[in-house]
Amino acid sequence: MKQPDHIIPRDQHTVSRKDISDNALKVLYRLNKAGYDAFLVGGGVRDILLGLHPKDFDITTNATPEQIRSLFRNSRIIGRRFKLVHIMFGRDLIEVATFRAHCASNTQQAKDGMILRDNVYGTIEEDAERRDFTVNALYYSVKDFTVHNYCNGLTDLRKRQLRMIGDPETRYREDPVRMLRAVRLATKLDLTIEPNTLKPISELAPLLEQVPAARLFEEYRKMFLGGKGEATFKALQTHGLLGKLFPATNALLAEHAEFETFIHAALENTDKRIASDNTVNPAFLIAVFLWQPLLERAHQLETKGMNFNDAFFKSMGYMLCEQSRFISIPKRYSLVIRDIWALQVRLPQRHGKKVWSALNHPRFRAAYDFLMLRAESDPSLREIADWWTKFQDADKDSQRAMLPKNKRRKTSRRRKPQNNG
Ligand code: ATP
Ligand code: MG
Repeated sequence: MKQPDHIIPRDQHTVSRKDISDNALKVLYRLNKAGYDAFLVGGGVRDILLGLHPKDFDITTNATPEQIRSLFRNSRIIGRRFKLVHIMFGRDLIEVATFRAHCASNTQQAKDGMILRDNVYGTIEEDAERRDFTVNALYYSVKDFTVHNYCNGLTDLRKRQLRMIGDPETRYREDPVRMLRAVRLATKLDLTIEPNTLKPISELAPLLEQVPAARLFEEYRKMFLGGKGEATFKALQTHGLLGKLFPATNALLAEHAEFETFIHAALENTDKRIASDNTVNPAFLIAVFLWQPLLERAHQLETKGMNFNDAFFKSMGYMLCEQSRFISIPKRYSLVIRDIWALQVRLPQRHGKKVWSALNHPRFRAAYDFLMLRAESDPSLREIADWWTKFQDADKDSQRAMLPKNKRRKTSRRRKPQNNG
């Protein structure tokens, strides 16, 4: 029997089971066995076709969340914007969604076109239509190993282009985060954004102001902690989106070349850490992005008569609060950011007990890395940075020898950080 054109048989595509995690396969097989349709979809299929190794696998099915839930003991229904099922295998999590329709009469839309709720189940064809980019609307079945290509994502993948499904402007208005996804995915996958998909972005960028700040924190992580942070930062600048995420940062970049150097050094460093499987804390880059705005704010308060220390500490809270209006920063990270900043004032004070307490501070390592990156754009910090490099690895005797002899001597009280990156 001849298959319809959009169904690609196993010998005409490169997706194979060996590229898919055992847990995702388990879920697909169990859904099929219970009589449901089930597909691997989205980034999983797309990345395999591009020869990459996807980290997460999204599954979609015609089973309802309740039906999925009853098949997997280790699962729970979660209902953020949409109702989904999370199936847990130890630390591995597989997300399963029911086919969703993009049905105007059932969606709740704000006046400006933004979709507030849509939880209407549909057919696989409808599910494909409501996805964002054609390359994300490819479905792989383990029943017959076919790829279902409803929106011609395969042709776009071959052309290495990212194309919005439907009318780009309407789709961005429905969900402005799609603008960030366009930039992030094009950068991550080295795809060109198709001209009509690209065109509305700079004009519609202000719509990002309506997106809940908590959702933007999740996007921030994906954009900056996915291994291509530096390229993504540049792309966000190019497309006029950076100012909608980090307005204070964006406003100072043009006038402070050394701040930009500092940021790029930090992004490059983060990308390298990720490439070599080192841990990265989401707080670190936010501390970097807000560093110059923090210094500027502190300086303003100083000119009004406040001493530097008070101005600096007061400005920390102000900057974090201002930034959280755009991207919310969970408390556990804002505490880390404060520590990194506060240690920038302490690290130059190399005497007595202060040195030992700084060295033993749980955030010493992050603060030291931060100082090293600052030193890349500010030669006046080189000496302090090198001193700490030497000090932390020295044995106890050498460390004591590095400290000033007269413990009572009060030198360089609370040296003020330089007014640049
Ligand atoms: P990656 O996992 O590499 O970040 P992804 O495309 O898989 O990329 P997910 O957030 O895992 O991103 O989303 C899975 C799929 O859900 C996408 O491929 C896309 O089909 C769909 N999707 C995600 N976000 C949206 C959105 N804002 N609008 C429409 N469809 C979306
Ligand atoms: Mg994914």
